Amino acid sequence: MSVLETQPPRFSAEEVARIAAEVFGLEGVATDLGSERDQTFLIDDGEAGAVLKISNLGEDPAVLDLEQAAIAQILRVDPELPVARPLAERATYKNHQVRLFERLHGRAGGPDLDDAALRRYGETHARLNLALRSFFDPAAGRELLWNLEHTPKLRPLLDAIDDSEQRRLVANVLDRFDSEVVPRWPKLRAQVVHGDLTLGNVLLDDRGRITAIVDFGDCGYTAQVADFAVALASLIRGRDEADLFRCARIAVDGYASRLPLEPEELAVLGDLVAARLAMIVAISAWRVRRYPENAEYIQLEDDDSWALLRFFDRIGADTVAHELGAPRAAVATGELARRRADTLGAMLTPLTYSEPVHVERGEGVWLYDTDGRRLLDAYNNVPVVGHCHPRVTEAVVRQTRKLNTHARYLYEPLIELAERLLASMPDDAGLDTVMLVNSGSEANDIAWRIATAATGNRGAIVTEHAYHGVTEAIADLSPEEWPAGYAPQHVVRIPPPGSGAETAEEFEGVAALFLDGGLTSDGIWTPSGAEITGLVQSARDAGGLYVADEVQAGFGRTGRHLWSFARYGVAPDIVTLGKPMGNGYPVAALITRRAIVERFPFAGGVFSTFGGNPVAAVAALAVLDVIEDERIVERAASVGEGLLAALSKLKSEEIVDVRGRGLLVGVELARAELAARIVDRMRELGILIGRTGPRDNVLKIRPPLVFGDEHTAILVDGLRQALEGETE
Ligand code: PMP
Repeated sequence: MSVLETQPPRFSAEEVARIAAEVFGLEGVATDLGSERDQTFLIDDGEAGAVLKISNLGEDPAVLDLEQAAIAQILRVDPELPVARPLAERATYKNHQVRLFERLHGRAGGPDLDDAALRRYGETHARLNLALRSFFDPAAGRELLWNLEHTPKLRPLLDAIDDSEQRRLVANVLDRFDSEVVPRWPKLRAQVVHGDLTLGNVLLDDRGRITAIVDFGDCGYTAQVADFAVALASLIRGRDEADLFRCARIAVDGYASRLPLEPEELAVLGDLVAARLAMIVAISAWRVRRYPENAEYIQLEDDDSWALLRFFDRIGADTVAHELGAPRAAVATGELARRRADTLGAMLTPLTYSEPVHVERGEGVWLYDTDGRRLLDAYNNVPVVGHCHPRVTEAVVRQTRKLNTHARYLYEPLIELAERLLASMPDDAGLDTVMLVNSGSEANDIAWRIATAATGNRGAIVTEHAYHGVTEAIADLSPEEWPAGYAPQHVVRIPPPGSGAETAEEFEGVAALFLDGGLTSDGIWTPSGAEITGLVQSARDAGGLYVADEVQAGFGRTGRHLWSFARYGVAPDIVTLGKPMGNGYPVAALITRRAIVERFPFAGGVFSTFGGNPVAAVAALAVLDVIEDERIVERAASVGEGLLAALSKLKSEEIVDVRGRGLLVGVELARAELAARIVDRMRELGILIGRTGPRDNVLKIRPPLVFGDEHTAILVDGLRQALEGETE
């Protein structure tokens, strides 16, 4: 027979006072504190006093030893936790196990707990779980109905609920538990837990801080989040419907501040809270039939629980789950696109592809849409080491949990990053100064300001269809963005080096030559070192600096070197970095020489609030680490070679040229409309590529650098199909 079915002990207060004196030598007055299946008494001896617990005859002594061992472990690991200590060895009295615990002081808590108290409650709970993390005791595997894992076993108890509407409420919770929680249960973190950390089992001080944690009677092995759900169900009890989820979330924040919840745990938290409430009323109905004399204690929480179950029923289980952190079901693509158009408009941040890509998650070279379809990403250069690379995401998450602030304070990751970046620059370039910013545009904007200040000139040289960023100054240096007829006087456009067209110009009054090492927006070209060296020399002859814009082609994109400029054999005066730098976390940089910045006249120096913040810095460091560990640069070179060769073998009259370096490859087609159709058709085939060039007729293939030969095969095959579709 289980402890829930065995008759609870029924000693009178006088008898208990005698037990305390006889067994433990403690003389005092006994007062019943109430208990579900045991008897618990306060023994007041006029001094510190104690709490005496007489166990149910059905209790296995091994379980009582488990409680003691768990308490001992908690006090060892986190001695600040106010857990009531045993004051003596467990003893036996008339076949009953009797134990004496330390008496702790405090008040009982309820819905009056304020936000700070709720947060601390969650935090304390997490500490309690953490303290028991490594604890093991075979008795913890005992089967106790109160363990939420056993929620499905409540079904036979439904008969004990007389009211049919109430029965329906509980049955619905059980149905939902079967469908939503049972399949996930095996994936939930589990350990030995207190099992009943409710307001009934803690005492608080005036400020709502926990001063006592008592009653390990439900201690056992279960899902960690189930243990927390028990606490949450207690914390929301008696609260205003309009406020209770807010309160619960604050307690969750407190818990997560010590022990972050996993997605699977958040997915079930709402259903676990509901299950706990259903468990309270179902077990209560069943036990009251057996022990009507203990009805008052057994039914203590019934009214509140029914009220909450009715409320949950009214708003629906999905809403409850979502309020407590479960993700919402994806919005339909059409609806989302409409809402996007309503809020963002068509001009700002336009969508690509005729059929928009509605994505939910990414991994490596793959993106997954909301229908669960995977798309081969051969377009995005930002996730350079693969979408959601664990090294980067974990670095970001860990640092986010620890510290995020700005670069006017000292912290190590920023400095380490700056040192690593400088060390990656050519030895003879004299590049010795780094500034961290947030975007390629910002890096280029500051580069431009520095260049004009340092040279005293105003002129810029850019390639014909260059793109360097969004700021007003840099939009002027980005002919790709110019409206028809727009031609700022200070900007000279040159044909992209490598395209075969001659640059006849002599320059004068130049502040800077901006050059994307991959000539991406110009249609992707592969100039020789001599061409670039010559161009840089002409710019320098006219007084200008050479700004190597590595925002697009940096971080190994073109293979062989980390920086695309390295193969050209001429060192830049300023290097700008961005897009792939944080694998998606916004971080960018500018690298130059001290002598150049010292001519920058702005008072007080330059500062960018988010630039190089600790999280950005660790993201960038993680990217550099992965590039080394996974030999990304070499990989980009060899996979890129294979890609170029495979594309070059494609037979189509529409293909004018195939060119590129590393994993930046362009397939020039005869007509722009055709390129547009091919890009859309590839998207239908589940392969993402883009278009580039002044006529938008060059297919742009620029995947994450973890792209492999197996992905090349898929891409080339898709392109063949798409081109064949055209000629049919
Ligand atoms: N420079 C180059 C070569 C780029 O390709 C881009 C962005 N495509 C930028 C600068 C601007 O970077 P961001 O969008 O991060 O401002």
